[in-house]
Amino acid sequence: MDDRYSRQILFSQIGAAGQRRLSTSHVLLVGCGALGASHAEMLARAGVGKLRIVDRDFVEFTNLQRQTLFKESDASERLPKAVAAKNRLAEINSGIEVEAIIADVNYSNVESLIEGCHLVLDGTDNFQVRYLLNDACVKHRTTWIYGAAVSSYGTAMTIIPGETPCLRCIFDEMPDAGSAPTCDTAGVIMPIIASVSAVQVTEALKILVGDFDSLHRSLMQFDVWANDRQRIKLGPPNPDCKTCEQRIFQFLDADSQEFSAVLCGRNAVQIAPPAPVRLNLSEFANKLRRVFDVKENEYLVRFVSGENEITVFSDARAIIKGTDDTAVARALYAKYVGI
Ligand SMILES: [Zn+2]
Repeated sequence: MDDRYSRQILFSQIGAAGQRRLSTSHVLLVGCGALGASHAEMLARAGVGKLRIVDRDFVEFTNLQRQTLFKESDASERLPKAVAAKNRLAEINSGIEVEAIIADVNYSNVESLIEGCHLVLDGTDNFQVRYLLNDACVKHRTTWIYGAAVSSYGTAMTIIPGETPCLRCIFDEMPDAGSAPTCDTAGVIMPIIASVSAVQVTEALKILVGDFDSLHRSLMQFDVWANDRQRIKLGPPNPDCKTCEQRIFQFLDADSQEFSAVLCGRNAVQIAPPAPVRLNLSEFANKLRRVFDVKENEYLVRFVSGENEITVFSDARAIIKGTDDTAVARALYAKYVGI
């Protein structure tokens, strides 16, 4: 066994047998922002044999404050995060395999991304993708580890399909459009990223070495600034859950759940949510006002982010000017509207 893992092998809960299991494990990392970069670095250093990293974004200077794998040159070159992560991980551990996939995770590719992976880690920034991941993982009985961090608080939960509650057992419906804070409207500090990713990666290591008795089996919530920590013990799956009991995989259904993203005119994309929703425009405008110069009337809210002018209507539809790439528009929508 490679000497580089000697301190981890001395940790008896992993040991030489656990290290061998890690080296033959294959993990899917969905999202390579702050949480995802942290997952990737820890799993690569731990010697997990194969990492598949999926992300649709490129590195920006605003990421460097908390996204540990990236450096200034990645932001200057606007490298895709999956590629920048793969480059950095090759310098950290050349003995593992890293697959970088630049893609928007959606109903059409999520099941093939999961295929062949022992475990999925959530490093995303939006609920649409989390519900999609939940459907796909429950359907294929793949364990996934939910994690989220905004401002100074975060949450984590491990989902073993058929054994523990799934995301929908706990949160039956997605939050309303524009209602959940995001890192782009409420900010975020790095210590909460480190805390949430530490819990997620520790759970991942336990699962990969087969120590299921040590899983925390709860919904963990913590606020590193307010010094709050809560652990809500989880029971069995909810017998009324649409996903794990009724096995209705609504988010995998192309017709019912996809956001539509259509080009409208030159250099503009319209994003529309899958079902009509009402957005409280004045609350939404107030949140954005902390960061942007916001124009608002009773029908719409408009602001400029970098090269993009974004107009959001009360039905949560948005027109994003300054791009003709629907994936870029969808990413901006997730950042600011928050679903
Ligand atoms: Zn469920």
